[in-house]
Amino acid sequence: MREDVNHDNTLPKDHPRYESLEYRHRIIEGMKNLVVSEAGLIAQGRGECFDYILGEKTSRFAEKAIMAAVALLLISEKPVISVNGNTAALIPHELVSLSNAVSAPLEINIFYGKEGRVKAITDVLTDAGALNLLGTDESEMVEIEELSSNRRRVDPNGIKIADTIFVPLEDGDRTEALKRLERKVIAIDLNPISRTAIWADITIVDNIVRAVPKMIEVAEELKNLKKEELIKIVKDFDNKKNIQDTLEMIKQYIEEQKEAAFNILK
Ligand code: ATP
Repeated sequence: MREDVNHDNTLPKDHPRYESLEYRHRIIEGMKNLVVSEAGLIAQGRGECFDYILGEKTSRFAEKAIMAAVALLLISEKPVISVNGNTAALIPHELVSLSNAVSAPLEINIFYGKEGRVKAITDVLTDAGALNLLGTDESEMVEIEELSSNRRRVDPNGIKIADTIFVPLEDGDRTEALKRLERKVIAIDLNPISRTAIWADITIVDNIVRAVPKMIEVAEELKNLKKEELIKIVKDFDNKKNIQDTLEMIKQYIEEQKEAAFNILK
């Protein structure tokens, strides 16, 4: 499914951090192709740091949030998946599969509007099979007033009229702006205490490279449920509690790592 970017075999497949290094290479390749901004490299590093203290795996709390997120996407009237450079570089095929699975179009929406970036991201997503892409024609964009960054420019048929916006990898400003506009926001963020994580209605604290494939699987399971059953899944989900539970889990994981490190050091 994924194209391996390890063209020159610099990453031995048996390297203990092969997966993580491969994703790093994707981000670097993405930056060379204009898909990823320079700041995207730093965002990836910040994400990796949080992934480390999550044990680099999807927690049961992330799984709960994924269930609620997919249910919400399936019951929304006009859901949209917002795509930035890092997501397009890391998981283009998975974004297209999720878009099909929950019937939500992909909209390109970037913070750093450098010349040629939208075209580069469009190419990556089109190569991955995207048919219904929004946010590609800059002359058609409209503004959402609550926001001052480049992200205020949105597609009139997408984020502008969406009831639910799924924002894997987000900046807190836009999440806050979308909440002021009374939209439902679903976020994936490895940092459970970012403004995005705190402001979103449903926060999936996980790496997008694990969470989005999981969302595709869950969409297959949930799509046969009745609307009332999906509404109940969303209603029963408590985002605040889920973030608190995640933070407790991180504290416990760090305690365990402390013990393990002491045992090696003594
Ligand atoms: P905020 O504005 O929400 O407080 P921030 O300023 O830290 O957060 P950015 O630096 O714009 O936000 O975005 C990076 C965020 O994305 C970080 O919180 C980082 O943990 C997260 N992140 C980076 N890579 C991934 C990834 N692969 N999967 C999930 N989250 C990621």
